Amino acid sequence: MTAGTMRQVRTMNAPMSDIAKAADAASIEGRQIVKTFGGFTAVDNVSFTIGKGEFVSLIGPSGCGKSTLMLIAAGLQPLSTGEIVVNGAPLDRPLTDIGIVFQDHLLLDFRTALDNVLLQAEIRGLPMEPARARAMELFEKLGIAHAADRYPRQLSGGMRQRVSIARALIHNPSVLMMDEPFGALDAITRTQIRHDLELLWMETGKTVLFITHSLEEAIGLSDRVLVMSPSPGRIVDEIRIELPRPRPAHLGDYPSFNIYADRIHALFRQFGVIKY
Ligand code: ADP
Ligand code: MG
Repeated sequence: MTAGTMRQVRTMNAPMSDIAKAADAASIEGRQIVKTFGGFTAVDNVSFTIGKGEFVSLIGPSGCGKSTLMLIAAGLQPLSTGEIVVNGAPLDRPLTDIGIVFQDHLLLDFRTALDNVLLQAEIRGLPMEPARARAMELFEKLGIAHAADRYPRQLSGGMRQRVSIARALIHNPSVLMMDEPFGALDAITRTQIRHDLELLWMETGKTVLFITHSLEEAIGLSDRVLVMSPSPGRIVDEIRIELPRPRPAHLGDYPSFNIYADRIHALFRQFGVIKY
């Protein structure tokens, strides 16, 4: 049995305890969102919905407004016009029931992996003993329990991102947003961490907004993929991914993977993002 299979089996058999499915996973809706910086339009009339417990990816070329849109959806950046609606109510402040993972792990180098995660619990005033147990449970599911006491410099890039995921989930938020979280990792590490994230999501049922410019990640993880045009960013296509889960490392085993990938490629070609 490989380490990966062992991890998968352990994850599947593990008790749900407090990482239970968030029964109250949030729905997020963007209505005609426009964002301008000075005279420059970064996001141009974007509307979207993310259902409760749904995994939605936003894919588009660099600079098309993905990060801006995510920060707006999280209530962290003001929009110019339009609105974000969470669970049916307009969002007028930063969303707190959320965990966010960025491409840069943003871990403090003088705190261990576990203490980086617990910092989030301290800031949120969570009781520490249950938080510690939950952090270890997340580490277990993410395959980094053995590294809980290591410092960030003693971890590989993939492990650091796993710590960031645990930190984002320590308070059991309804919503998880990830901005190119695996962008700096090598291809093999990306494939494994993608799989582990998928298993964790299947178990916890968070509402996820995932930003990427990787076709494999978008198609490999999502229930739906929203495709953005180059700047000014618009949503130009929405693709429901009808592949069984968990999805294989080699997505090309599914003929429909190539149909989805061709559809996204065709759009990028049409927009001149891909020129061959
Ligand atoms: P992506 O995440 O898709 O690469 P971003 O959302 O980061 O794109 O940026 C979209 C566009 O908005 C880019 O042209 C970027 O330079 C611009 N932009 C982003 N944030 C700001 C800002 N705070 N001030 C001015 N321009 C910005
Ligand atoms: Mg970005």
